Amino acid sequence: MKPAPLEYRRAESVEEAVGLLAEGGHDAKVLAGGQSLVPMLNMRLARPALVVDVNRVAGLDGIVAENGHVRVGATCRQRAAERSAPVRERVPLLAACLPFVGHAATRNRGTVGGSIAHADAAAELPLALVALGGSVVAESVRGRREIAADELFVSHFTTALAPDELLVETLWPAARPGTGFAFEELALRHGDYALAMAACALLVEGGAVAEARLVLGAVAARPTLVDVPLAGRAVDAEAVREAAEAARAAVSPSGHLHASPEYLRHVTGVLAGRAVLRAWEEAA
Ligand code: FAD
Repeated sequence: MKPAPLEYRRAESVEEAVGLLAEGGHDAKVLAGGQSLVPMLNMRLARPALVVDVNRVAGLDGIVAENGHVRVGATCRQRAAERSAPVRERVPLLAACLPFVGHAATRNRGTVGGSIAHADAAAELPLALVALGGSVVAESVRGRREIAADELFVSHFTTALAPDELLVETLWPAARPGTGFAFEELALRHGDYALAMAACALLVEGGAVAEARLVLGAVAARPTLVDVPLAGRAVDAEAVREAAEAARAAVSPSGHLHASPEYLRHVTGVLAGRAVLRAWEEAA
């Protein structure tokens, strides 16, 4: 199929892009890598009147390590982030997730900001951003604002971004001494969207967990932070069992063609336990 009639405009600057988005309002869509939007246009799952192409906007694709964060520009290609030293060295959880995002070919075009803005519940990058307590910077004709990942993802394909807001940057907290990270995914084939995912970020001090963030993906409408009872204790078999139990209790997956709700809930617990144990082993 082909897209419904639409007006295509290529922005050369952020100012031009946000001005066009303000004109288009609810009927405008940002075009980044096109790896999700173009199929949706072709299947007429999205019928915007205006598409604003931001691929030529300068300065939106940088990767900069500063002030305890790595700032990844919205149009940074997933493949570029995957290969970048600041990401590999300072944000190991993002580096661990990126190879699972589609295929090398799609990552050559797909962008970090596009994956975050698309907010597919089975996408790896939103999960990692929530697990790390990251944030994004959005810009519109009204100015700039920072949105914490915990507030950004609302539901399937739905974020707190206003229709006329351009996501310009993603902020990833850099790893500190004593932190450990782990990402676990189950998918039918490598490169497929996940059936279930878990990401864990731990800070270990004095032989015990000081901070823990365990996030589940693909089994709820958005990345789901689990209230996991790990603070102040070492991660032993009992702690792993309790974390797995807390993960199972935190989600109510609806089944689908490939997996029943019971199976998804069970495998979520398994992935969560593994992620907690591996993050502990890395931190300790
Ligand atoms: P686009 O497709 O251009 O846009 C996606 C959506 O985000 C649109 O609604 C668009 O308006 C909006 N948007 C994009 N950029 C911005 C911005 N800067 N500000 C505001 N809104 C914006 N993804 C995964 O996470 N895991 C997978 O396993 C996976 N497998 C895939 C397999 C295949 C075969 C393909 C084709 C894609 C797959 N994807 C997967 C999706 C891919 O990662 C996309 O790149 C990503 O979802 C969207 O990034 P994009 O730059 O292509 O955005």
